[in-house]
Amino acid sequence: MNPHILILGAPGAGKGTQSDNIVEEFGVEHVTTGDALRANKGMDISHLGLEYDTPGEYMDRGELVPDEVVDEIVETALDEADGYVLDGYPRNLAQAETLASMTDLDVALYLDVDEDVLVERLTGRRVCEECGATYHVEFSPPEEEGVCDRCGGDLYQREDDTEETARERIRVYEENTAPVVEFYDERGDLVRIDGEGSPDEVWADVKDAIESNA
Ligand code: ADP
Ligand code: AMP
Repeated sequence: MNPHILILGAPGAGKGTQSDNIVEEFGVEHVTTGDALRANKGMDISHLGLEYDTPGEYMDRGELVPDEVVDEIVETALDEADGYVLDGYPRNLAQAETLASMTDLDVALYLDVDEDVLVERLTGRRVCEECGATYHVEFSPPEEEGVCDRCGGDLYQREDDTEETARERIRVYEENTAPVVEFYDERGDLVRIDGEGSPDEVWADVKDAIESNA
């Protein structure tokens, strides 16, 4: 059976970057709530009677999309996956409990990065609109500005990667998601990884942690 990997860390910690490496090396599925929600930003959720009528209204404010919307996305994706790296979920303790009722994890990786570094990474991030590859204007620029090395697609900046929204997302992370890291630590599933090295240095530690736990 392919491994069940959870990757945790603040916005900008490098979860997507390392998930791409994990997919390539271990042949698992990348299950990411952020991408799934971005593809469904305008979905009508008014029947749920929540504060806003679409996921996008939460996302553009840096707030969490309500659990009932996100839980269902994850349940469907995990049911269909033979081995996965789960990225962006759980983001609060209720989601962590829901996940525990859905699946067993082999390992929970936590990428540890300081807030100032996170803001620099988020505001400089660029993403390919065709294939989703991630770049950074300074730390991992494409060969040609604005063009994806992998597929030639156009690169764009996410609407929530402004400094103001990035800081709000980090605040929401500290309030809601930091306790999730403790949750896995207390269960003995957590491997802490220094996320501030180069992408290759972080990858060496991520790979080791998976090989010795999954
Ligand atoms: P997350 O998925 O955790 O939000 P990403 O993987 O999208 O984070 O990375 C955020 C930004 O930081 C991207 O622009 C990415 O290219 C860059 N990045 C990722 N890992 C590193 C690293 N180890 N060193 C420098 N920049 C990095
Ligand atoms: P990300 O791509 O992981 O940075 O997520 C972008 C945005 O999507 C977040 O700021 C939230 O608004 C929303 N989101 C992603 N995952 C979740 C989740 N597990 N729970 C609630 N909201 C989420």
